[in-house]
Amino acid sequence: MIEINDEAAHFAKPWQKQLNEAFHCVEDLCAYLKLSPIELPISVAAAKNFPLRVPLSFAACMEKANPNDPLLRQVLPISDEMRIYPGYSADPVGDLSASQQIGVIHKYHGRALFINTGACAIHCRYCFRRNFPYAQLQLGKQQEQAALDYLAANTSITEVILSGGDPLLLSDARLTRLLAQLSALASIKRIRLHSRLPIVLPARINEALIDGFKQCTQPIVLVMHCNHPNEINQRVISACQRLKNSGVTLLNQAVLLKGVNDQADVLCALSEQLFAIGVMPYYLHLLDKAIGTGHFDVSEAEALRLMQDVQDCLPGYLVPHLVREVAGAPAKQRISNTA
Ligand SMILES: *Cc1c(COP(=O)(O)O)cnc(C)c1O
Ligand code: SF4
Repeated sequence: MIEINDEAAHFAKPWQKQLNEAFHCVEDLCAYLKLSPIELPISVAAAKNFPLRVPLSFAACMEKANPNDPLLRQVLPISDEMRIYPGYSADPVGDLSASQQIGVIHKYHGRALFINTGACAIHCRYCFRRNFPYAQLQLGKQQEQAALDYLAANTSITEVILSGGDPLLLSDARLTRLLAQLSALASIKRIRLHSRLPIVLPARINEALIDGFKQCTQPIVLVMHCNHPNEINQRVISACQRLKNSGVTLLNQAVLLKGVNDQADVLCALSEQLFAIGVMPYYLHLLDKAIGTGHFDVSEAEALRLMQDVQDCLPGYLVPHLVREVAGAPAKQRISNTA
């Protein structure tokens, strides 16, 4: 971690450089936020399990000297992660068992996840992938071809979802080539990307990427991941603008997290602000019960109460679907009062 004296100079650098300069040491992040590490419930063991990783653009959205900042809570390794909660496992959504076919997770009708990289620009403490053997999910050339062959052979798949990890960590050249290869498959009608980079590393939405998207002959849907309105800064707004201008459909998924966004007014502000920058709310996920994440859990009953309040203050099209992933189920399970 280099000293960050000049934020403007950092944000002028290419995204790869910005990523290299991301915080990966708790002490550095605390110093930047004017917090004293000894006053925080930091856990060295938790950081060893899943290292800290936070790009400056995301850290810059945190409130200084606030130990309870909702963005900080998403990334800080704390002792609660070491607590054992009943019913939590390493692979709660069954992705490891579904990924026998290298790089492809085909669980739902018509759609398949294509996992090219296990890497992420930020390490979200609540993530179910925190316990995955990431290295094994890095695709080489041959495996990528095998994945493409699988998609070509399974003509029921009409939508490929580039996921990860974060697919936008792939180079412009590789992504552009991949978009062309996928578009060339006869059954593919849409290409979707699931990425947190427009939020946490907006510099990634550079001209070469936008050109790649514009060249793609199939419609592109980008599902970003923003949990709290404070995550939306000016850099994020212009990244979304560039994406919109390239014709990409922008949606957002969030995870309902205790101490982060488990308040109706926060969820309403999130939807309002996303809409204002051209992004439609899509899903609000209940937490996947992965080991180390129990302290983020919001019960289903509490989630339903929150959703009632959210529905009472927003137009219907700004209310995200409350969903849960159930291992082995044919789709994300929608949770509603009427069910
Ligand atoms: C979430 C997910 C999808 C996409 O589901 P949608 O409801 O279409 O957003 C597809 N495949 C897998 C394995 C998933 O986990
Ligand atoms: S997969 Fe998404 S939620 Fe999980 S650590 Fe990466 S960016 Fe965060």
